[in-house]
Amino acid sequence: MKIKSAEFVISNTDYTKCPVTKEPEYAFIGRSNVGKSSLINMLTDRTKLAKTSGKPGKTQLINHFHINKEWYLVDLPGYGWAQVSKKLKEEWSVMIKQYLLQRENLVNIFVLIDSRIPPQKIDLEFIQWVGENGLPISIIFTKADKTGNRKIITNIANFKNTLKKTWDQLPPSFVSSSAQKIGQDEILGYIDQINSK
Ligand code: GDP
Repeated sequence: MKIKSAEFVISNTDYTKCPVTKEPEYAFIGRSNVGKSSLINMLTDRTKLAKTSGKPGKTQLINHFHINKEWYLVDLPGYGWAQVSKKLKEEWSVMIKQYLLQRENLVNIFVLIDSRIPPQKIDLEFIQWVGENGLPISIIFTKADKTGNRKIITNIANFKNTLKKTWDQLPPSFVSSSAQKIGQDEILGYIDQINSK
């Protein structure tokens, strides 16, 4: 897929105020600092479409971008800020879970996992929740600058093996590096495939 246009549409805290559309929508989510903004910029060939890491505790928003005037890319606020208050964590949880459960045109949730670190409980718990609710999911292992790197291969294998304990069939997964521009064709190709169904 060639990116012809990528436009910011709206930021929301409430899923009911998201754009009214029947076009397919793809959400991107992960632990804060997982490389989500960099990935969104890399995928869309833009340098500043998504803003890279802010400070913990800033307003958490559901950000809609319209791509090629055909589908929506949604940048969801990251989870896992250590310093964030319980209240903010609860607000995040309510907002995100409502959006994910209620948004009718949502066709896939890309959950981003940092390939440079071993499996994290918070990621596994989030993926578990997505699976239990029967939501469409794919995984993107980020920051795989050197795909042959033994540590990265081990981390990805460990993550998949951990998931295998509870998943009969593993969700589709991709490997990406925004620094090395790895994964763009595969991820956009996957979106294309779903869009053309
Ligand atoms: P976000 O908080 O998930 O949106 O993450 P950002 O995109 O802001 O990235 C967090 C940090 O990871 C920044 O310092 C980025 O430069 C770095 N980063 C993001 N993607 C990559 C990548 O593919 N490779 C490397 N080496 N670093 C990355």
